[in-house]
Amino acid sequence: MAKLELSDIDVAGKRVIVRVDFNVPIQEGKITDETRITAALPTLLDLIHRNAKIILITHLGRPTVGSAADRETLSTEPIAIALNRKLGRRVAHVNDCIGEDVHNAVESLENGEILLLENVRFYAEETDNDPEFAKQLASLADVYVNDAFGTAHRAHASTEGITQYITTCAVGLLMAREIHYLSMTLESPERPYVAILGGAKISDKITLIENLIGKVDSLLIGGGMAYTFLSAMDVSIGNSLVETEKLDVAVNLIKKKDFTESVLLPADHIVGESFDPETESQVIDNVSVPNGWQGLDIGPKTVAAFSERIASAKTVVWNGPLGVYEFEKFAKGTIEVAKQIAASDAVSIIGGGDCVAAIQQAGVADRITHISTGGGASLEFLEGKPLPGITALTDK
Ligand code: AMP
Repeated sequence: MAKLELSDIDVAGKRVIVRVDFNVPIQEGKITDETRITAALPTLLDLIHRNAKIILITHLGRPTVGSAADRETLSTEPIAIALNRKLGRRVAHVNDCIGEDVHNAVESLENGEILLLENVRFYAEETDNDPEFAKQLASLADVYVNDAFGTAHRAHASTEGITQYITTCAVGLLMAREIHYLSMTLESPERPYVAILGGAKISDKITLIENLIGKVDSLLIGGGMAYTFLSAMDVSIGNSLVETEKLDVAVNLIKKKDFTESVLLPADHIVGESFDPETESQVIDNVSVPNGWQGLDIGPKTVAAFSERIASAKTVVWNGPLGVYEFEKFAKGTIEVAKQIAASDAVSIIGGGDCVAAIQQAGVADRITHISTGGGASLEFLEGKPLPGITALTDK
């Protein structure tokens, strides 16, 4: 059965649970990045305008169940305050997510009002996907909307279990947007389709690489993960990052026809003497990294080669930085590539916290078609894995 969209359901006067991903960074009670709250606003505004009684569920951090300190530092209360400021209307907060107090708070909601429940991960039953707990959450509402793409790859009580106990379940506007763009790359990408992968390790991205090499026209690999492939090709990599336990996998991958036809690895490097922001650095105009040095960024020749592919692409997907972009000396490759993606006419889809940060650092976020709110979830989606939080909405 097809998933219900938000616009398919009648919400006026109904109690609507929205599972949001408000897993925001909080330091000393202050939210340091509100992106995830802002991303949920379209769904919330739609429900407010259509007179729903809105109940928000989120997780926040990874609390130790029963820890009094975590109950304080990982409470969702500051989020209610931030949401109140953003929406210009009262957002009530309740100190639990199940039980009598919560039911009473829900009962007192007027149409168009919002109630934010306490951190759902204060209960181990959430991540255990406990049916009884899911049933208690479900008892609060008539309708369930999932807008938490960031946790869609987890089968938890508030993302999966709950859908068994509420008849009307729908996809939120943010979730629908994520599904739209990511499905497009899997099913019907406009070509040339270029994927760019970076980050520290290949171990997290092997399935993704296997899935992408048959589908993309070009796969551009940079970052620490490139050195395991270069090492598998018997290229000297000096002290660069290498996953020796994954060399076998890399050796098998590089032999595949799809790999040789589509993958572009770094042809030059910016190297450092040590993993340090102030370390001595130099450009190495060669694929080999000299002894005593480590590759910490892609070099100018590689940037030019990657840029050429990006410029002619119609679809670009990017996950993982191409160097240690946190250190100024080794940020250039990642920032240049971010700018090239922004300058291209391609549909561009960016996932993962580091790439999102790099895009913001480059000042080009407004020229990216879609910035995914779920790093892990977008990776699993692109690997072709079904995400439980999404399939639960379909399989009803
Ligand atoms: P990941 O979580 O696997 O996407 O890795 C992201 C991290 O990879 C970032 O913190 C980068 O600093 C790091 N990284 C990128 N390129 C390199 C490199 N050449 N050597 C070491 N670390 C790198």
